[in-house]
Amino acid sequence: MTRSAGPSIEQPHLLPVFARADLAFERGEGVWLTGTDGERYLDFTSGVAVNALGHCHPHLIAALQEQATKLWHMSNLFKSPDGERLAARLCEQSFADFVFFCNSGAEAMECALKMTRHYHFSKGKPERTRIVTFEGAFHGRTLGTLAATGAAKYLEGYGAPLEGFDQVPLGDLEAVKKAVGPNTAGILIEPLQGEGGVRAPPHAFFRALRELCDESDILLVFDEVQTGMGRTGELFAYKRLGVTPDIMSLAKALGGGFPIGACLATAEAAEGMAPGSHGSTFGGNPLAVAAANAVLDVMLKPGFFDHAQKMSLLLKQKLASVVDRHPQVLSEVRGEGLLIGLKAVVPSGDLVNALRDQKLLTVGAGENVVRFLPPLIVSEAEIEESVQRLERACVALSGPQLKRAAGQ
Ligand SMILES: *Cc1c(COP(=O)(O)O)cnc(C)c1O
Repeated sequence: MTRSAGPSIEQPHLLPVFARADLAFERGEGVWLTGTDGERYLDFTSGVAVNALGHCHPHLIAALQEQATKLWHMSNLFKSPDGERLAARLCEQSFADFVFFCNSGAEAMECALKMTRHYHFSKGKPERTRIVTFEGAFHGRTLGTLAATGAAKYLEGYGAPLEGFDQVPLGDLEAVKKAVGPNTAGILIEPLQGEGGVRAPPHAFFRALRELCDESDILLVFDEVQTGMGRTGELFAYKRLGVTPDIMSLAKALGGGFPIGACLATAEAAEGMAPGSHGSTFGGNPLAVAAANAVLDVMLKPGFFDHAQKMSLLLKQKLASVVDRHPQVLSEVRGEGLLIGLKAVVPSGDLVNALRDQKLLTVGAGENVVRFLPPLIVSEAEIEESVQRLERACVALSGPQLKRAAGQ
């Protein structure tokens, strides 16, 4: 066989840190993707909770096209009227007074971690640097956020992790109380763990964390990188919990597919942050800000979250009936809004593959869970279609299983 002169899949140059499926796409529209194989796929990954408005939303295209003719990048040495507007809108919709823009979830979390420590430094308590975190968490892949994540499988091979994290079991209030001491700066938690397997402690646990933080004068930090921007059926998941954090990170769906992250904080938590305390070259880039403002335009229209909540209910009900019909493949439906997990009995990777064979794209997660993360604009018909594809995947997976059980 002669080798072609150009780049080829046989000689990969992308650092092989992802186990990529043998599938690529050339365009997307709404909830649908067209593969380079010419097939149409129903996209219930949303780029892992990123494309909340689906692919190629006309309002996002228009906003980005318009901005592309005006200004691509400006340094943060100058004012940013559109960035100010985006920050003001995020603050108006949340508990926050200040926003720092960056480019990813991990960066938003880095800012959150730094601000949590800096708060105590500026209050004359520089010894308060430790942060309580939870098992099963995911906060990103930088050295700092990896240490907060605390998973041995991600930390291995990268030397001593950043000091200062005390990880306790999720939902264990006694363990949290024991971990909080004179050097504690804050508590960091996801309102609903995504990567960890779509799991969350009861609302009462979050209320207890808030009380503990208030009593101990430490900060409550929510990682809403995955849950934020409508994923759980409200603009921010903390609103469903009825518990308000001091600091919150956002990213994934914030730009609807354009990279942007944000760290939101109250004026109190941000006290002491001054010119030079933190920074970013690309943070608040005009293209990213235009995309995020356009995302908010759509999400803040009356009825947007009513639709997402209605679709959530419908999807959960239909998934539950598939679970009932296929107990040898599936065992449970969990989650909030359109961050839904299906706990599998078969290996979750087998289920993701079987669903892909049916042209339905989903994402694996911890605890043998498969995530259904449709765009929030998904229709009733598309939900029905996804459930039929799941049904067929379950039948395909049951065949060999049942034969094996019957000793054939
Ligand atoms: C995805 C994710 C991150 C990391 O975001 P990146 O943009 O990949 O850096 C952090 N926290 C949570 C909860 C996430 O889901």
